[in-house]
Amino acid sequence: MKLSNNVVEEVVIEVAGEDVLPLVKALKNKKNVSEFKLAEKMGLEVNTTRNMLYRLYHSNLVTFIRKKDKVKGWYIYYWTFKTKGIKHLVKRIKTKKLDQMKERLQREIEGQFFACPNNCMRLNFDQAVDFQYKCPECGGLMQQEDNNEKIAEIKKDMKKLEEWLK
Ligand SMILES: [Zn+2]
Repeated sequence: MKLSNNVVEEVVIEVAGEDVLPLVKALKNKKNVSEFKLAEKMGLEVNTTRNMLYRLYHSNLVTFIRKKDKVKGWYIYYWTFKTKGIKHLVKRIKTKKLDQMKERLQREIEGQFFACPNNCMRLNFDQAVDFQYKCPECGGLMQQEDNNEKIAEIKKDMKKLEEWLK
């Protein structure tokens, strides 16, 4: 599985939010970075930084160790970004997408679809019957649609995704 920077960013945004991206950049390819250093580097309050780190932690994208500061007596957390966690999440997201595509393909293969000549909308068979084959938007006569092209397109996308997941 290829893991480009784009993929990493995509996953981080999806699971933890876009505001976390600079933090991920500051963490990547390093080990055990103090949260105070991270906060300083990003110009943020330590609490804000911690909140972001916890979001990543909930998605299993960071690990931490804590050490007691001998002078101040409190614990300092040191964080490490887990690239493995990204791989796992990407796989989960893409697998879910593939499942949705399978369902959609099934619907396209089994169903009959009707489209308005003015492209207002597309209805399945039951819906078209409900509206007596008249477009609810413009009143145009709905035509049965040849969805072979759509089916081919979904199959192509699925193949790409399956290749990627290998
Ligand atoms: Zn219409």
